[in-house]
Amino acid sequence: MSMKSNSKLRVAVIGGGIGGAATAVALKSIGIRADLYEQASEIKEVGAGVGMRPPTVNYFKKWGIYGEIERKSSRSDYMEVVAANGDVLVRERWPLLTDNPEEKWARLVHRADLIEIFLNQLPTDSIHLGHRLDKIIDHGNYAEVHFENGRSIEADLVIGADGIRSEVRSQLFSDTKPIYSGTHAYRAVVTNKEAFELVPDNTLKVYVDGRAQIYVLPLHHRNQVSFDVTIQSPDASWRPVVSPEEIVKLVDNFVDGIQKTALTVEEYTCRSVYDIDSIDRWHSNCVALLGDAAHAMQHHTGQGANSAIQDAGVLAECLQEADSIPEALQLYQSRRKPVTDKFQELSRQAPTQQTETAFIEKSHFEKA
Ligand SMILES: Cc1cc2nc3c(=O)[nH]c(=O)nc-3n(C[C@H](O)[C@H](O)[C@H](O)COP(=O)(O)OP(=O)(O)OC[C@H]3O[C@@H](n4cnc5c(N)ncnc54)[C@H](O)[C@@H]3O)c2cc1C
Repeated sequence: MSMKSNSKLRVAVIGGGIGGAATAVALKSIGIRADLYEQASEIKEVGAGVGMRPPTVNYFKKWGIYGEIERKSSRSDYMEVVAANGDVLVRERWPLLTDNPEEKWARLVHRADLIEIFLNQLPTDSIHLGHRLDKIIDHGNYAEVHFENGRSIEADLVIGADGIRSEVRSQLFSDTKPIYSGTHAYRAVVTNKEAFELVPDNTLKVYVDGRAQIYVLPLHHRNQVSFDVTIQSPDASWRPVVSPEEIVKLVDNFVDGIQKTALTVEEYTCRSVYDIDSIDRWHSNCVALLGDAAHAMQHHTGQGANSAIQDAGVLAECLQEADSIPEALQLYQSRRKPVTDKFQELSRQAPTQQTETAFIEKSHFEKA
Protein backbone atom coordinates (compact mmCIF):
# COMPACT_ATOMS: atom_id res chain seq x y z
CA MET A 1 0.00 0.00 0.00
CA SER A 2 1.21 3.50 -0.67
CA MET A 3 2.61 5.65 2.14
CA LYS A 4 -0.17 8.16 1.50
CA SER A 5 -2.85 5.65 2.36
CA ASN A 6 -0.70 4.40 5.25
CA SER A 7 -0.67 7.77 6.91
CA LYS A 8 -4.48 7.90 6.80
CA LEU A 9 -5.02 4.43 8.20
CA ARG A 10 -6.56 4.16 11.64
CA VAL A 11 -4.78 1.30 13.39
CA ALA A 12 -5.44 0.12 16.96
CA VAL A 13 -3.30 -2.41 18.80
CA ILE A 14 -4.93 -4.05 21.82
CA GLY A 15 -2.36 -5.04 24.47
CA GLY A 16 0.95 -3.38 25.38
CA GLY A 17 3.02 -6.51 26.00
CA ILE A 18 6.00 -7.56 23.92
CA GLY A 19 3.79 -8.41 20.90
CA GLY A 20 1.68 -5.25 20.92
CA ALA A 21 4.60 -2.91 21.54
CA ALA A 22 6.66 -4.61 18.80
CA THR A 23 3.72 -4.23 16.41
CA ALA A 24 3.50 -0.50 16.97
CA VAL A 25 7.26 -0.20 16.32
CA ALA A 26 7.10 -2.38 13.19
CA LEU A 27 4.22 -0.32 11.79
CA LYS A 28 6.00 2.93 12.59
CA SER A 29 8.97 1.71 10.56
CA ILE A 30 6.72 1.58 7.47
CA GLY A 31 5.06 4.91 8.16
CA ILE A 32 1.91 3.69 9.89
CA ARG A 33 0.94 5.22 13.22
CA ALA A 34 -0.74 2.75 15.56
CA ASP A 35 -2.54 3.56 18.79
CA LEU A 36 -1.70 1.12 21.58
CA TYR A 37 -4.37 0.27 24.18
CA GLU A 38 -3.24 -1.47 27.37
CA GLN A 39 -5.49 -2.50 30.24
CA ALA A 40 -2.89 -1.86 32.97
CA SER A 41 -2.46 1.61 34.38
CA GLU A 42 1.31 1.25 34.04
CA ILE A 43 3.49 -1.02 31.95
CA LYS A 44 5.11 -3.58 34.21
CA GLU A 45 7.03 -6.53 32.87
CA VAL A 46 7.76 -9.70 34.75
CA GLY A 47 11.43 -9.72 35.72
CA ALA A 48 12.92 -12.44 33.57
CA GLY A 49 15.38 -12.92 30.78
CA VAL A 50 14.58 -14.04 27.25
CA GLY A 51 16.86 -15.15 24.42
CA MET A 52 16.34 -13.21 21.20
CA ARG A 53 17.08 -15.32 18.11
CA PRO A 54 18.65 -14.21 14.80
CA PRO A 55 15.36 -13.83 12.86
CA THR A 56 14.05 -11.61 15.67
CA VAL A 57 17.28 -9.63 15.72
CA ASN A 58 16.94 -9.13 11.95
CA TYR A 59 13.73 -7.22 12.63
CA PHE A 60 15.44 -5.07 15.28
CA LYS A 61 17.96 -4.12 12.59
CA LYS A 62 15.18 -3.42 10.09
CA TRP A 63 13.34 -1.19 12.61
CA GLY A 64 16.52 0.72 13.46
CA ILE A 65 16.66 -0.30 17.14
CA TYR A 66 19.46 -2.86 17.08
CA GLY A 67 22.03 -0.48 18.59
CA GLU A 68 19.89 -0.04 21.69
CA ILE A 69 19.14 -3.75 21.93
CA GLU A 70 22.86 -4.50 21.70
CA ARG A 71 23.59 -2.12 24.57
CA LYS A 72 20.94 -3.73 26.76
CA SER A 73 21.62 -7.40 26.06
CA SER A 74 24.41 -9.98 26.15
CA ARG A 75 25.38 -12.31 23.35
CA SER A 76 25.11 -16.02 24.10
CA ASP A 77 26.89 -18.66 22.03
CA TYR A 78 25.92 -21.90 23.72
CA MET A 79 23.07 -23.56 25.52
CA GLU A 80 23.58 -26.50 27.87
CA VAL A 81 21.26 -29.10 29.32
CA VAL A 82 22.69 -30.06 32.72
CA ALA A 83 21.69 -32.88 35.09
CA ALA A 84 20.63 -32.02 38.66
CA ASN A 85 24.06 -33.21 39.87
CA GLY A 86 25.87 -30.80 37.52
CA ASP A 87 26.84 -33.24 34.73
CA VAL A 88 26.62 -31.50 31.37
CA LEU A 89 24.34 -33.65 29.20
CA VAL A 90 24.26 -31.52 26.05
CA ARG A 91 26.27 -28.46 24.99
CA GLU A 92 25.26 -26.90 21.69
CA ARG A 93 25.69 -23.72 19.73
CA TRP A 94 22.47 -21.78 19.27
CA PRO A 95 20.87 -22.90 16.01
CA LEU A 96 21.01 -21.05 12.73
CA LEU A 97 17.54 -19.78 11.98
CA THR A 98 18.26 -17.35 9.16
CA ASP A 99 20.16 -17.53 5.89
CA ASN A 100 23.21 -15.96 7.49
CA PRO A 101 25.66 -18.72 8.49
CA GLU A 102 27.40 -16.30 10.91
CA GLU A 103 24.32 -15.92 13.09
CA LYS A 104 24.59 -18.85 15.45
CA TRP A 105 23.92 -17.07 18.70
CA ALA A 106 21.17 -15.42 20.71
CA ARG A 107 21.00 -12.11 22.54
CA LEU A 108 19.89 -12.39 26.15
CA VAL A 109 17.74 -9.50 27.29
CA HIS A 110 15.58 -8.56 30.27
CA ARG A 111 11.93 -8.36 29.25
CA ALA A 112 11.44 -4.98 30.90
CA ASP A 113 14.34 -3.52 28.87
CA LEU A 114 12.87 -4.88 25.67
CA ILE A 115 9.45 -3.33 26.31
CA GLU A 116 11.07 -0.05 27.32
CA ILE A 117 13.10 0.09 24.11
CA PHE A 118 9.95 -0.53 22.06
CA LEU A 119 7.84 2.04 23.89
CA ASN A 120 10.58 4.66 23.65
CA GLN A 121 10.17 4.55 19.87
CA LEU A 122 6.53 5.53 20.03
CA PRO A 123 4.90 8.94 20.37
CA THR A 124 3.65 9.22 23.96
CA ASP A 125 0.20 10.28 22.80
CA SER A 126 -0.17 6.94 20.99
CA ILE A 127 0.11 4.90 24.20
CA HIS A 128 -3.20 4.61 26.06
CA LEU A 129 -2.97 2.98 29.49
CA GLY A 130 -5.99 2.02 31.59
CA HIS A 131 -7.87 0.87 28.47
CA ARG A 132 -9.23 -2.64 28.90
CA LEU A 133 -11.06 -3.91 25.83
CA ASP A 134 -14.56 -4.91 26.79
CA LYS A 135 -16.17 -5.50 23.40
CA ILE A 136 -15.05 -5.61 19.79
CA ILE A 137 -17.47 -5.46 16.86
CA ASP A 138 -16.27 -6.39 13.39
CA HIS A 139 -18.10 -4.38 10.70
CA GLY A 140 -16.26 -5.96 7.77
CA ASN A 141 -14.10 -3.07 6.63
CA TYR A 142 -13.63 -1.47 10.04
CA ALA A 143 -14.02 -2.49 13.67
CA GLU A 144 -15.42 -0.80 16.72
CA VAL A 145 -13.78 -1.27 20.11
CA HIS A 146 -15.37 -0.47 23.45
CA PHE A 147 -13.24 -0.15 26.54
CA GLU A 148 -14.25 -0.73 30.14
CA ASN A 149 -13.44 2.89 30.96
CA GLY A 150 -16.34 3.98 28.75
CA ARG A 151 -14.31 5.12 25.73
CA SER A 152 -14.79 3.63 22.31
CA ILE A 153 -12.90 3.89 19.03
CA GLU A 154 -13.17 2.81 15.42
CA ALA A 155 -10.24 1.55 13.36
CA ASP A 156 -9.56 0.28 9.83
CA LEU A 157 -7.26 -2.36 11.33
CA VAL A 158 -7.28 -3.80 14.86
CA ILE A 159 -4.48 -6.05 16.08
CA GLY A 160 -5.42 -8.23 19.04
CA ALA A 161 -2.17 -8.64 20.98
CA ASP A 162 -3.98 -9.17 24.26
CA GLY A 163 -2.22 -12.31 25.43
CA ILE A 164 -3.19 -15.90 26.16
CA ARG A 165 -6.62 -14.96 27.56
CA SER A 166 -7.38 -12.74 24.57
CA GLU A 167 -10.81 -11.11 24.43
CA VAL A 168 -10.33 -10.37 20.74
CA ARG A 169 -9.78 -14.09 20.11
CA SER A 170 -12.74 -15.26 22.17
CA GLN A 171 -15.14 -12.60 20.84
CA LEU A 172 -14.28 -12.98 17.15
CA PHE A 173 -12.26 -16.08 16.32
CA SER A 174 -12.31 -19.06 18.63
CA ASP A 175 -13.75 -20.36 21.86
CA THR A 176 -10.58 -22.36 22.58
CA LYS A 177 -9.60 -22.27 26.25
CA PRO A 178 -6.11 -22.11 27.77
CA ILE A 179 -4.79 -25.54 28.75
CA TYR A 180 -2.91 -26.10 32.01
CA SER A 181 0.48 -27.75 31.47
CA GLY A 182 0.61 -29.27 34.94
CA THR A 183 3.55 -27.02 35.81
CA HIS A 184 4.31 -23.76 37.58
CA ALA A 185 7.04 -21.28 36.66
CA TYR A 186 8.76 -19.34 39.46
CA ARG A 187 10.94 -16.53 38.16
CA ALA A 188 13.43 -14.20 39.79
CA VAL A 189 16.33 -12.02 38.72
CA VAL A 190 19.29 -12.39 41.08
CA THR A 191 22.71 -10.85 41.66
CA ASN A 192 24.25 -13.44 43.94
CA LYS A 193 27.72 -14.91 43.54
CA GLU A 194 26.43 -18.50 43.40
CA ALA A 195 24.22 -17.75 40.42
CA PHE A 196 27.17 -16.17 38.57
CA GLU A 197 29.23 -19.26 39.30
CA LEU A 198 26.55 -21.36 37.61
CA VAL A 199 26.90 -19.25 34.43
CA PRO A 200 30.41 -17.79 34.45
CA ASP A 201 30.34 -17.26 30.66
CA ASN A 202 27.49 -16.40 28.32
CA THR A 203 26.00 -19.90 28.20
CA LEU A 204 22.29 -20.34 28.93
CA LYS A 205 21.81 -23.45 31.05
CA VAL A 206 18.81 -25.57 31.86
CA TYR A 207 19.19 -27.89 34.84
CA VAL A 208 16.84 -30.87 34.68
CA ASP A 209 15.59 -33.74 36.74
CA GLY A 210 12.41 -35.78 36.26
CA ARG A 211 10.09 -33.08 37.64
CA ALA A 212 11.75 -29.74 37.13
CA GLN A 213 13.64 -27.54 34.69
CA ILE A 214 15.68 -24.68 36.10
CA TYR A 215 16.66 -22.09 33.48
CA VAL A 216 19.73 -20.04 34.43
CA LEU A 217 20.15 -17.21 31.96
CA PRO A 218 23.07 -14.78 32.29
CA LEU A 219 22.21 -11.08 32.04
CA HIS A 220 25.81 -10.07 32.66
CA HIS A 221 25.35 -6.61 31.09
CA ARG A 222 23.02 -5.90 34.07
CA ASN A 223 25.17 -7.80 36.58
CA GLN A 224 22.25 -10.17 36.98
CA VAL A 225 21.18 -13.71 36.31
CA SER A 226 17.64 -14.74 35.44
CA PHE A 227 16.57 -17.76 37.49
CA ASP A 228 13.43 -19.68 36.38
CA VAL A 229 12.20 -22.80 38.14
CA THR A 230 9.57 -24.78 36.21
CA ILE A 231 8.14 -27.61 38.26
CA GLN A 232 5.16 -29.96 38.28
CA SER A 233 2.19 -28.93 40.42
CA PRO A 234 -1.48 -29.96 40.51
CA ASP A 235 -2.51 -26.38 41.42
CA ALA A 236 -3.85 -24.74 38.24
CA SER A 237 -4.55 -21.26 39.67
CA TRP A 238 -3.15 -18.55 37.34
CA ARG A 239 -1.09 -16.91 40.08
CA PRO A 240 -0.24 -19.62 42.58
CA VAL A 241 1.05 -18.53 45.96
CA VAL A 242 4.33 -20.30 46.69
CA SER A 243 6.85 -19.02 49.22
CA PRO A 244 10.62 -18.78 48.61
CA GLU A 245 11.07 -21.27 51.48
CA GLU A 246 8.91 -23.83 49.69
CA ILE A 247 10.89 -23.29 46.49
CA VAL A 248 14.17 -23.93 48.35
CA LYS A 249 12.77 -27.33 49.33
CA LEU A 250 11.61 -28.07 45.79
CA VAL A 251 15.15 -27.70 44.40
CA ASP A 252 16.97 -29.60 47.17
CA ASN A 253 18.24 -32.36 44.85
CA PHE A 254 20.00 -29.86 42.54
CA VAL A 255 23.68 -28.83 42.68
CA ASP A 256 24.81 -26.56 45.51
CA GLY A 257 24.87 -23.46 43.31
CA ILE A 258 21.16 -23.84 42.53
CA GLN A 259 20.26 -24.41 46.18
CA LYS A 260 22.36 -21.47 47.36
CA THR A 261 20.86 -19.25 44.68
CA ALA A 262 17.34 -20.25 45.72
CA LEU A 263 18.22 -19.49 49.36
CA THR A 264 18.94 -15.85 48.52
CA VAL A 265 15.78 -15.11 46.52
CA GLU A 266 13.32 -13.04 48.53
CA GLU A 267 10.56 -12.83 45.96
CA TYR A 268 9.48 -14.82 42.92
CA THR A 269 6.90 -14.14 40.27
CA CYS A 270 4.81 -17.32 40.33
CA ARG A 271 2.64 -18.33 37.36
CA SER A 272 0.95 -21.50 36.22
CA VAL A 273 2.09 -22.43 32.73
CA TYR A 274 -0.72 -22.53 30.17
CA ASP A 275 -0.85 -22.70 26.39
CA ILE A 276 -3.59 -23.04 23.77
CA ASP A 277 -4.16 -25.50 20.94
CA SER A 278 -3.55 -24.17 17.46
CA ILE A 279 -6.61 -22.27 16.19
CA ASP A 280 -7.84 -22.29 12.58
CA ARG A 281 -8.18 -18.61 11.82
CA TRP A 282 -6.42 -15.53 13.14
CA HIS A 283 -7.95 -12.81 11.04
CA SER A 284 -10.99 -11.28 9.41
CA ASN A 285 -10.81 -8.47 6.83
CA CYS A 286 -9.90 -5.85 9.43
CA VAL A 287 -8.89 -7.64 12.67
CA ALA A 288 -5.95 -9.98 13.31
CA LEU A 289 -4.49 -11.74 16.32
CA LEU A 290 -0.81 -11.58 17.17
CA GLY A 291 1.57 -13.14 19.72
CA ASP A 292 0.14 -15.23 22.57
CA ALA A 293 -3.41 -14.22 21.61
CA ALA A 294 -2.92 -16.14 18.35
CA HIS A 295 -0.65 -18.97 19.47
CA ALA A 296 0.28 -19.05 23.16
CA MET A 297 2.86 -21.77 23.68
CA GLN A 298 4.80 -23.19 26.59
CA HIS A 299 8.27 -21.74 27.17
CA HIS A 300 10.44 -24.79 26.54
CA THR A 301 11.60 -23.75 23.08
CA GLY A 302 12.00 -20.11 24.22
CA GLN A 303 9.91 -18.95 21.28
CA GLY A 304 6.86 -17.12 22.64
CA ALA A 305 8.33 -13.64 22.69
CA ASN A 306 10.39 -14.30 19.57
CA SER A 307 7.25 -15.41 17.73
CA ALA A 308 5.31 -12.33 18.83
CA ILE A 309 8.08 -10.03 17.54
CA GLN A 310 8.40 -11.95 14.27
CA ASP A 311 4.60 -11.78 13.84
CA ALA A 312 4.91 -8.00 14.10
CA GLY A 313 7.70 -7.93 11.51
CA VAL A 314 5.83 -10.14 9.06
CA LEU A 315 2.58 -8.20 9.53
CA ALA A 316 4.34 -4.96 8.57
CA GLU A 317 5.91 -6.62 5.51
CA CYS A 318 2.53 -7.98 4.41
CA LEU A 319 0.91 -4.55 4.75
CA GLN A 320 3.64 -3.16 2.53
CA GLU A 321 3.38 -5.87 -0.09
CA ALA A 322 -0.38 -6.31 -0.35
CA ASP A 323 -2.86 -4.07 -2.15
CA SER A 324 -5.43 -4.13 0.61
CA ILE A 325 -5.74 -4.86 4.34
CA PRO A 326 -7.73 -8.11 3.83
CA GLU A 327 -5.07 -9.38 1.45
CA ALA A 328 -2.29 -8.39 3.86
CA LEU A 329 -3.95 -10.20 6.77
CA GLN A 330 -4.41 -13.33 4.71
CA LEU A 331 -0.75 -13.25 3.70
CA TYR A 332 0.29 -12.63 7.33
CA GLN A 333 -1.52 -15.71 8.62
CA SER A 334 -0.30 -17.88 5.74
CA ARG A 335 3.34 -16.96 6.48
CA ARG A 336 3.26 -17.18 10.25
CA LYS A 337 0.81 -19.92 11.19
CA PRO A 338 2.76 -22.93 9.85
CA VAL A 339 5.77 -21.78 11.92
CA THR A 340 3.90 -21.07 15.15
CA ASP A 341 1.77 -24.25 14.81
CA LYS A 342 5.03 -26.21 14.91
CA PHE A 343 6.42 -24.24 17.85
CA GLN A 344 3.19 -24.73 19.82
CA GLU A 345 3.53 -28.46 19.32
CA LEU A 346 7.28 -28.67 20.05
CA SER A 347 7.05 -26.41 23.11
CA ARG A 348 5.00 -29.05 24.93
CA GLN A 349 8.16 -31.15 25.31
CA ALA A 350 10.22 -30.07 28.29
CA PRO A 351 13.91 -31.01 28.38
CA THR A 352 14.76 -34.03 30.58
CA GLN A 353 17.84 -36.14 31.42
CA GLN A 354 17.16 -38.07 28.19
CA THR A 355 17.18 -34.95 26.00
CA GLU A 356 19.52 -35.28 23.03
CA THR A 357 19.44 -31.70 21.82
CA ALA A 358 19.00 -28.32 23.49
CA PHE A 359 17.00 -27.18 20.45
CA ILE A 360 14.30 -29.60 19.37
CA GLU A 361 13.12 -27.07 16.79
CA LYS A 362 16.45 -27.24 14.97
CA SER A 363 15.66 -30.16 12.66
CA HIS A 364 12.42 -28.43 11.64
CA PHE A 365 13.69 -24.95 10.97
CA GLU A 366 17.44 -24.83 10.51
CA LYS A 367 18.10 -23.71 6.98
CA ALA A 368 21.72 -24.83 6.75
C1 LIG B 1 8.11 -18.90 32.40
C2 LIG B 1 8.11 -18.30 31.01
C3 LIG B 1 9.31 -18.17 30.32
C4 LIG B 1 9.34 -17.68 29.02
N1 LIG B 1 10.53 -17.62 28.36
C5 LIG B 1 10.56 -17.20 27.08
C6 LIG B 1 11.79 -17.16 26.34
O1 LIG B 1 12.88 -17.50 26.85
N2 LIG B 1 11.76 -16.74 25.06
C7 LIG B 1 10.59 -16.36 24.46
O2 LIG B 1 10.63 -16.00 23.27
N3 LIG B 1 9.42 -16.36 25.14
C8 LIG B 1 9.36 -16.78 26.41
N4 LIG B 1 8.16 -16.81 27.09
C9 LIG B 1 6.93 -16.44 26.39
C10 LIG B 1 6.72 -14.94 26.29
O3 LIG B 1 6.86 -14.37 27.54
C11 LIG B 1 5.32 -14.65 25.72
O4 LIG B 1 5.09 -15.46 24.60
C12 LIG B 1 5.22 -13.20 25.30
O5 LIG B 1 5.39 -12.36 26.39
C13 LIG B 1 3.86 -12.93 24.65
O6 LIG B 1 3.71 -11.57 24.39
P1 LIG B 1 2.30 -10.99 24.04
O7 LIG B 1 2.51 -9.52 23.86
O8 LIG B 1 1.69 -11.74 22.93
O9 LIG B 1 1.38 -11.28 25.30
P2 LIG B 1 1.50 -10.68 26.78
O10 LIG B 1 2.90 -10.47 27.18
O11 LIG B 1 0.64 -11.54 27.63
O12 LIG B 1 0.84 -9.24 26.66
C14 LIG B 1 -0.54 -9.06 26.53
C15 LIG B 1 -0.88 -7.64 27.00
O13 LIG B 1 -2.24 -7.38 26.74
C16 LIG B 1 -2.83 -6.78 27.87
N5 LIG B 1 -4.26 -7.13 27.84
C17 LIG B 1 -4.82 -8.34 28.09
N6 LIG B 1 -6.15 -8.27 27.93
C18 LIG B 1 -6.44 -6.99 27.58
C19 LIG B 1 -7.65 -6.31 27.26
N7 LIG B 1 -8.86 -6.93 27.30
N8 LIG B 1 -7.59 -5.01 26.92
C20 LIG B 1 -6.38 -4.36 26.87
N9 LIG B 1 -5.21 -4.96 27.17
C21 LIG B 1 -5.24 -6.26 27.51
C22 LIG B 1 -2.07 -7.37 29.06
O14 LIG B 1 -2.15 -6.56 30.20
C23 LIG B 1 -0.66 -7.47 28.50
O15 LIG B 1 0.09 -6.30 28.72
C24 LIG B 1 8.12 -17.28 28.40
C25 LIG B 1 6.91 -17.37 29.10
C26 LIG B 1 6.89 -17.90 30.40
C27 LIG B 1 5.56 -18.01 31.13
